[in-house]
Amino acid sequence: MENTNEMTIIFDSRPVNEGLARVTVASFCTQLNPTLEEVADIKTAVSEAVTNCIIHGYEGQVHKIKMTCSLKGQEITVDISDEGVGIPDIKKAMEPLYTSRPDKDRSGMGFTFMEAFMDEVKVESEVGKGTTVHMKKTIGR
Ligand code: ATP
Ligand code: MG
Repeated sequence: MENTNEMTIIFDSRPVNEGLARVTVASFCTQLNPTLEEVADIKTAVSEAVTNCIIHGYEGQVHKIKMTCSLKGQEITVDISDEGVGIPDIKKAMEPLYTSRPDKDRSGMGFTFMEAFMDEVKVESEVGKGTTVHMKKTIGR
């Protein structure tokens, strides 16, 4: 099909690579002619998902995070996955203000921001296997 494009990057779960993921998704989506606000929304959602892989998925240990971005028409899909601890109760994890790490100064708003800034957020996870966050946004509504 015409008007599709896809890319994947795999990077270490180091906080410095959150910036890499943000810049990569921003750069990839420019071909859709997004507004600055749309780019900022996508970058924020990506930051939240990557931070979750680093802090929760891998609990600070360094392993791989995979980000796949694809375009179809005016829609961008971003999948971010880790092979970390997984989420035992996805519904609860996605509730505003829920955090399993209040000790780490987390506010439990990551998924809420992802849902606010993207059109669709879906989470797949298996305890001991890892987590994938699928996000979609249509540009130029
Ligand atoms: P904040 O994002 O506001 O700093 P938070 O990370 O705790 O706080 P969310 O991003 O909404 O809040 O995530 C809610 C909870 O879901 C986390 O506390 C954690 O228990 C779980 N979680 C999220 N992402 C992952 C992941 N990749 N692997 C394992 N657990 C996760
Ligand atoms: Mg978070």
